[in-house]
Amino acid sequence: MQNIEQSLTALRQRIVSSAQEYARDAHSIKILAVSKKQPISAIRAALAADQRDFGENYLQEALAKIDVLADSQACWHFIGPLQSNKTRAVAENFSWVHTLDREKIAVRLSEQRPGGLGPLNVCIQVNISAEASKSGISLAALPALVMTIRQLPGLRLRGLMALPAPAAEFDAQRQPFWQLRQAFEQLQGGGFELDTLSMGTSSDMAAAIAEGTTLLRIGTALFGPRPD
Ligand SMILES: *Cc1c(COP(=O)(O)O)cnc(C)c1O
Repeated sequence: MQNIEQSLTALRQRIVSSAQEYARDAHSIKILAVSKKQPISAIRAALAADQRDFGENYLQEALAKIDVLADSQACWHFIGPLQSNKTRAVAENFSWVHTLDREKIAVRLSEQRPGGLGPLNVCIQVNISAEASKSGISLAALPALVMTIRQLPGLRLRGLMALPAPAAEFDAQRQPFWQLRQAFEQLQGGGFELDTLSMGTSSDMAAAIAEGTTLLRIGTALFGPRPD
């Protein structure tokens, strides 16, 4: 395990300098620490260095961690593929979901969200051009899902998320982020109060910052390579 406090400091510095380069306010860019496959000790080290938001992809692994760290300040984000049989546990144990892309799942999450917890924060995952995974809704189908989610009392729509196919060139990295941002600004212009653009990982964070990300999902650049 690398020194997580040092990695976080370096990461925050990279964000500040990229923000400066693209005329962004660095305070508007948060880090979501992607802790999938990382041990509890790594999460504790990040917590000790004032990291609060953690992203997990695999439900059983995540539930075990949430249980062990129940007394911590961690805020848990579900960022993995979401099928019907997982919605109840996600609605009961997470604060955020970034991978919402279907009406049926939205309805279930809303119904299963315990009243005492307040609405579940959600981002819609959009499948912009040549996305690596097949998940995510098309841009054309996005407005209808937005309207549905708006009427669900157990959910609070916060924004959009994308995980584009890896690209080596900076301009190629920017292109899908630019598209997501256009969709985001269109919704904002239509009166939706959205505040979260969940885009950018360890390998394309500068491109995401250039295109307006508010939440970088960072795994390896923070925790080092994932143990398999
Ligand atoms: C694993 C993962 C990340 C983090 O990727 P890194 O390259 O390790 O920074 C971000 N987003 C999603 C959806 C992931 O599954």
